[in-house]
Amino acid sequence: MRKMELHWKILIGMVLGILFGFLMTNFEWGPKFIQDWINPFGTIFVKLLKLIAIPLILASLVKGISDLKDISKFRNIGLRTIAIYIATTIVAITIGLLLVNLIKPGNGISEDTIAQLTETYSNDSGVTSKLEEASRQKESGPLQFLEDMVPDNAFNALGDNSSMLQVIFFTIFLGISMLLIGEKKAKPLKDFFDSLNDVVLKMVDLIMLSAPIAVFALLSNVVVSSGDPDLLLALLKYSGVVVLGLILMIVFYSLVVGTFTRYNPWTFLQKISPAQLLAFSTSSSAATLPVTMERVEEHIGVDKEISSFVLPVGATINMDGTSLYQGVAAVFISQALGFELTFSGQLTIVLTALLASIGSAAVPGAGMVMLVIVLEAIGFPADKLAIGLALIFAVDRPLDMLRTVVNITGDATVSMMVAKSVGQTIKPKVKNWDDNLDEVR
Ligand code: ASP
Repeated sequence: MRKMELHWKILIGMVLGILFGFLMTNFEWGPKFIQDWINPFGTIFVKLLKLIAIPLILASLVKGISDLKDISKFRNIGLRTIAIYIATTIVAITIGLLLVNLIKPGNGISEDTIAQLTETYSNDSGVTSKLEEASRQKESGPLQFLEDMVPDNAFNALGDNSSMLQVIFFTIFLGISMLLIGEKKAKPLKDFFDSLNDVVLKMVDLIMLSAPIAVFALLSNVVVSSGDPDLLLALLKYSGVVVLGLILMIVFYSLVVGTFTRYNPWTFLQKISPAQLLAFSTSSSAATLPVTMERVEEHIGVDKEISSFVLPVGATINMDGTSLYQGVAAVFISQALGFELTFSGQLTIVLTALLASIGSAAVPGAGMVMLVIVLEAIGFPADKLAIGLALIFAVDRPLDMLRTVVNITGDATVSMMVAKSVGQTIKPKVKNWDDNLDEVR
């Protein structure tokens, strides 16, 4: 019998998880049962993925750089990556702004709904914590991000999942220095990292065996912890605009993949789908990163020297879905609360949402923190910020799940574009989880 493809298994796990979550909301003890007995399996899975993220970036990026015979190639890859990331993010924000200005979801929202949402959420700890986090981030100077990128202790950086850019900085430094000491002297270290890289990719295969069960757990928990369905309905038009924008982004990526890299867009979407389904279930590009890397390298076939740099950098700085959402949300809140937005205000949104997507952490809900900074940049009254966030808070989680899918699809697309632009042929090199199982036995 033909083995069922991984993405189907994950999809079945997701659907069953959602159904089970809805079933459990009918019982008083249901949500607590899911939190105590089901959710831990989802949490363990996310922890396993995060556990291998730093070893994977380290091994894969060192291997990628030390395989390059010429450092100028690396500069080439770096510059192209940043330029293409900025371009795709601008496309995303523009699509979001066009849609929200055309459809105007904020105009139809009634005073009653605004009052109800404000009452329910403006003092909610979720909203207040986002406002506090935003004011902390705002206090830093303009070059703070450069300063933050350089670790003062390599081992501390390697020990902290939120210092992804520091790890990338250290690893690039290490890889380039390995190139400079010459092949012979660098060989022992290179062999070590090559082997570590293979081992960690095998760990991804093994962790993915439990993905269908994990997504069941994660999604049933999302269902039992989500807000009042009536309020979700009131925000249907706004959510619809975000979702439409996100779908257009997937169409845009498919077109780019088809025309620019001459890769079948359908095959691309099929191969990246397990990573997309995980992004949806975990709402975190960082947790999904190991799977994105495995899919792009082994199943789509982008060379490690490109994917090992483009993908971890992308997970941290390239968030097309998030920036599209920030554009839509900022205009929606302005429309709903009657704040006049000028054309230059909209341009400010493009710029700040671009910077905000670079600054957003790759974790659930981070996009909303940076939205506060976008709102402040357009001069939105500070006393109404909590009300603004309260308006969109109820639907933030489902939209976060969807924008994370777009974030990682964007990273994968850009890695293919960079590969093609430096003349690489994209060819799959699939390894299965049980390749050497007989020998081991
Ligand atoms: N959850 C998103 C990510 O990890 C970030 C956000 O939009 O909140 O990519």
